[in-house]
Amino acid sequence: FLTQTKIVKRGLEIRARAAGASKTIEVEVDKPLGLTLGQKPGGGVVIAAVEGGGNAAKAGLKAGDQVLYTSSFFGDELWPADKLGFTKTAIQAKPDSVYFVVSRGAEVDVKKLTKRPAPPRFGQKLTEAQKARATHICLDCGYIYTLQKPFDEQPDTYACPQCRAPKKRFARYDVKTGKAIGGSLPPVGVIIGLVAGIGAVGALLVYGLQ
Ligand SMILES: [Zn+2]
Repeated sequence: FLTQTKIVKRGLEIRARAAGASKTIEVEVDKPLGLTLGQKPGGGVVIAAVEGGGNAAKAGLKAGDQVLYTSSFFGDELWPADKLGFTKTAIQAKPDSVYFVVSRGAEVDVKKLTKRPAPPRFGQKLTEAQKARATHICLDCGYIYTLQKPFDEQPDTYACPQCRAPKKRFARYDVKTGKAIGGSLPPVGVIIGLVAGIGAVGALLVYGLQ
């Protein structure tokens, strides 16, 4: 198994080198974002300027990066950034932070991109007391339900406090494995297939090695 892992990693490294300078970068940026967006002629949105020391700069975004996706109003989806006005409205409506997918070094026809689910936010650190109560997980963002009130007693109108996904988007959660039971997170293969079309080896590295 170890040998196999090594081969896979080496393969990815070679592909990353072959791709040259162009890459896709995915980051979550806290508000205030500290960036200015501009409209690309013929469609698409570009980062016109990044404030030095601002949150966008800290997250690694640079002027000239083409924005491919930003968070939707409720953060449950990523929407292609085609028209500047629409993208700005979505960004303004989204509280706290905005997820960006940008392309650096390669022009992408965003009209060919389709909406995709927002990536789940893993790595939520639970205390021992929370672990004992963790029974359900939001499939859209990875939020783990740890309230004392049993999940099944929540009304049908209950929504994920992190991404506003409806109650039916929660699945039972296995504390031991840290994974949903029965439900499934957005298939990685679909995401890779989508970005592979852009020739984004950077994204392959991000998703492939997690
Ligand atoms: Zn959620």
